[in-house]
Amino acid sequence: MEAISNFPSNPVKPHINPCRNYIFSRFPIDSRSPNACRSFRFSNVNLSLNSVKKQRRPFPCSCNLSKTASLDRETFDVVVVGAGIIGLTIARQLLLGSDLSVAVVDAKMPCYGATGAGQGYIWMTHKTPGSDRWELSLRSKQLWGLLADSIQTQGMDPSQVLGWKKTGSLLLGRTPDELAMLENRVKQLSEAGLRAEYLSAADLLSLEPALEGGNVGGAAFLPDDCQLDAHRTVEFIEKGNKYFASHGRYAEFYHNPVISLLRSAQNGEVEGVQTSKKILYSKCALVIAAGAWSGSLMQSLVKDSDIVLDVPVKPRKGHLLVLENFNQFELKHGLMEAGYADHKIVKPLPSSASGVTEEEQTLTSISMTATTDSMGNLVLGSSRQFTGFSTDVEESIINRIWERAGVFFPTLRELSLPNFVRSRKIRVGLRPYMIDGKPLIGPIPGIPKVFLATGHEGEGLCTALGTAEMIGDMILGNTGKVDWAPFSVQGRCCT
Ligand SMILES: Cc1cc2nc3c(=O)[nH]c(=O)nc-3n(C[C@H](O)[C@H](O)[C@H](O)COP(=O)(O)OP(=O)(O)OC[C@H]3O[C@@H](n4cnc5c(N)ncnc54)[C@H](O)[C@@H]3O)c2cc1C
Repeated sequence: MEAISNFPSNPVKPHINPCRNYIFSRFPIDSRSPNACRSFRFSNVNLSLNSVKKQRRPFPCSCNLSKTASLDRETFDVVVVGAGIIGLTIARQLLLGSDLSVAVVDAKMPCYGATGAGQGYIWMTHKTPGSDRWELSLRSKQLWGLLADSIQTQGMDPSQVLGWKKTGSLLLGRTPDELAMLENRVKQLSEAGLRAEYLSAADLLSLEPALEGGNVGGAAFLPDDCQLDAHRTVEFIEKGNKYFASHGRYAEFYHNPVISLLRSAQNGEVEGVQTSKKILYSKCALVIAAGAWSGSLMQSLVKDSDIVLDVPVKPRKGHLLVLENFNQFELKHGLMEAGYADHKIVKPLPSSASGVTEEEQTLTSISMTATTDSMGNLVLGSSRQFTGFSTDVEESIINRIWERAGVFFPTLRELSLPNFVRSRKIRVGLRPYMIDGKPLIGPIPGIPKVFLATGHEGEGLCTALGTAEMIGDMILGNTGKVDWAPFSVQGRCCT
């Protein structure tokens, strides 16, 4: 039974009936209401915040009942909006860790969003020990490793199933400042308990000869960093989720954009969502994991209420250039230039070379990332742009990615990009960007039973399993494995 192998043979069950015990046990709780599913209390959250207006009159039902009468209706314990890596892994977590029923709904398909474009680095090299995201990243990476191990234990090959490769990561420095930063980073990462090594230029070249002539002075090397293939991984997670469909616990609704919230006319509580084709009731929780669209979606969902909520997630467009069956060289590791860590804006290229306007240069950053994936393709990245929700391929950006890669890999300078026109693929995705660099994970104050899981920018693949565990623990009333506070919605989405 292939589908079952996604999951441990003895899935962890919560010790309580979660739907009856809907309480955040991580925090002190003074009293329990008889119907805990309705008493969604966050004892660390001050709901009397001036910035969040509580509803003082019954909510209007935000959907027009006469128009919805003909729509199909289905009820689930949890409805997850968004079938990217975040939404799908949240569904997986709940299916595995509870007996709740789960529906995933998406405007399009899995991999339509940022997930389908992701390079797949499951990395710690460019994370800073002690920072807000450190614990979440570490936990998530550990969970990915456990998943890959469990696939192996069940007799399958994680490199086939997930595109999983323990390549190790190389963060490359060229300038004296970058090299000093990398030495310091290696020290910090080692002190935090990770295997980390500073490599001289000579040691680096012995690991990656393709860098010869690229003037790279040294690198931070983390041999335990990994990578996966987002498409294969999503396929695997979906297959596992679908196993629960036959048990009546899972359903997915694609090409079903969510258009409004269903709210009780009596008390305003959220009861589910209306999509373009269906009414989906969520008895216990509604999770918004709509990536870069989460901000605009939430805005439209609360527009008829008194709730003042501004989810400031913005789309940050990224291009990846994939050269299929590339045979000029093979990279053994995942590579990234040091400047990626702070998403520096690269020195402007002469506009004649790239056709890039001054304004575009200000809004666009290109940092070299390179890896050979599990299919033998050379994957080169990546760009960052604020250009709204367009996912059109921009040739000027592809040219800049190619030129930047050529700085590190002189062989590429001898090749002409147009020669790869038949064997290249371009992936474009909208990273869900948060200005403070941290995802939003948690309950939305003032809207009981509704959670946000978004804003992972360039780290959503890496941090997906940790995020899913966190949301699962919140919904099930379990104690959190890592500190939830840095990701709280409270205080970050209210004007
Ligand atoms: C070029 C590039 C390289 C990257 N490399 C890496 C990497 O190496 N490592 C890493 O960890 N991360 C990487 N990332 C980031 C990572 O891909 C994202 O952080 C992650 O995929 C975000 O997942 P998500 O589920 O939040 O969003 P998405 O994958 O965007 O999914 C959101 C989903 O919500 C759906 N949706 C939107 N509106 C609605 C609606 N109204 N109703 C229903 N559904 C809706 C969309 O259709 C979409 O399917 C990269 C991203 C890019 C673009």
